[in-house]
Amino acid sequence: MNSLKTYNSFGVDVACHELLLIHEIHQLIDFLMHNESPFIILGGGSNVLFTQDFLGTVLVNRLSGIEVKHLDDERVLVTAGGGVLWDDLVSFCVSKSYHGIENLTAIPGTVGAAPMQNIGAYGVELAFCFHSLKALNLSTKGPEVFDKTQCEFGYRSSVFKTRLKNKYFITSVSLVLQKKASLNLTYTPVKEAIDSLGIKQPTLVDVKNIINDIRWSKLPKPSELGNAGSFFKNPVIDKAAFNALLMQYPNIPHYLVDEGVKIPAGWLIEQCGWKGKIIGNTGSHAKQSLVIVNYGQATGAEIIAHAQRVQSSVLERFNIKIEAEVNIY
Ligand code: FAD
Ligand code: NAP
Repeated sequence: MNSLKTYNSFGVDVACHELLLIHEIHQLIDFLMHNESPFIILGGGSNVLFTQDFLGTVLVNRLSGIEVKHLDDERVLVTAGGGVLWDDLVSFCVSKSYHGIENLTAIPGTVGAAPMQNIGAYGVELAFCFHSLKALNLSTKGPEVFDKTQCEFGYRSSVFKTRLKNKYFITSVSLVLQKKASLNLTYTPVKEAIDSLGIKQPTLVDVKNIINDIRWSKLPKPSELGNAGSFFKNPVIDKAAFNALLMQYPNIPHYLVDEGVKIPAGWLIEQCGWKGKIIGNTGSHAKQSLVIVNYGQATGAEIIAHAQRVQSSVLERFNIKIEAEVNIY
């Protein structure tokens, strides 16, 4: 058995039968041709929770390379291998002054996993600059291209997390980025930080650095405390349900979105008294209760049990079912 402890950001100590690092697409095709055993795909392991040993093969995406195609005076098409670290791609683009993904700085994991849940942060999501992706169909073993519409991106969702889950291995992702300055400063804490630093004309590098600082002032680094970022998705409820809640909780934070009203799950969890609460080896983080933490030797089962306690109390108090964002195995 091969340990997966260093292959998941929760740091859960489980094992798998075989671990195969995919550096070239032909390795993946060879594996699919000759293997009958069960398998799962892994990027950086920063959005997974293993609850048991995996009695099959874990395919780790290490497909590398970044290519740039100049489209016109204003835009570039940047294509990165699925195994490139997402944050390395962000740093590369910022260093070249390509605008579009700087707000997504410091999100752990790989480029290939980014479309899975349409990664998002600080007012930007992958879909905003997404062009297309290439993926290997795991049944036909042939390559296919998906454009933005075919990816069915939604709030922390895509067709690869829903209808086509476990059906494709994403091998590369292409983004259209802007050569001229176009910054997204809609997220209040980012705007406030820029103002408080007295920056009159923020640059791409300013935005990246500021978001990096805000992020790590609040979030535990997986290298220091095991976690997978937000354990739950922010629930989106309909307006009638929201109005009923507002009567009871006039200060409830909320954001209008296309599908209804988004309530920060972290606030709901905090109201239920979980912020900073530790039970055994796990608990809800003291600075952001949406993050469940492994305080040392937690098992996946302990982490799941904690998540279920949190979910039940939010359901009981607010009649809102918060769903896991993390992929559970
Ligand atoms: P993994 O955890 O390895 O995999 C996640 C899922 O995708 C699994 O089901 C896996 O089978 C599947 N998968 C992975 N690669 C492929 C592929 N190539 N083809 C097909 N399926 C694949 N997320 C956000 O959206 N915004 C944030 O701001 C954010 N901040 C975070 C902060 C911290 C500290 C942490 C730990 C996590 C954070 N996350 C955030 C979650 C996580 O970083 C992202 O979801 C990231 O995209 C996961 O990438 P990964 O390579 O680690 O995926
Ligand atoms: P925060 O600023 O404390 O805000 C709490 C929640 O309110 C966020 O989840 C955010 O929703 C929502 N929100 C705040 N301002 C908003 C606005 N102007 N418009 C719409 N929604 C708004 O959040 P945080 O925990 O420090 O995280 C900061 C950002 O990083 C967020 O975008 C968050 O999604 C992202 N993040 C994600 C993960 C993950 O694992 N998925 C982990 C850490 C951070 P949104 O989540 O929709 O933005």
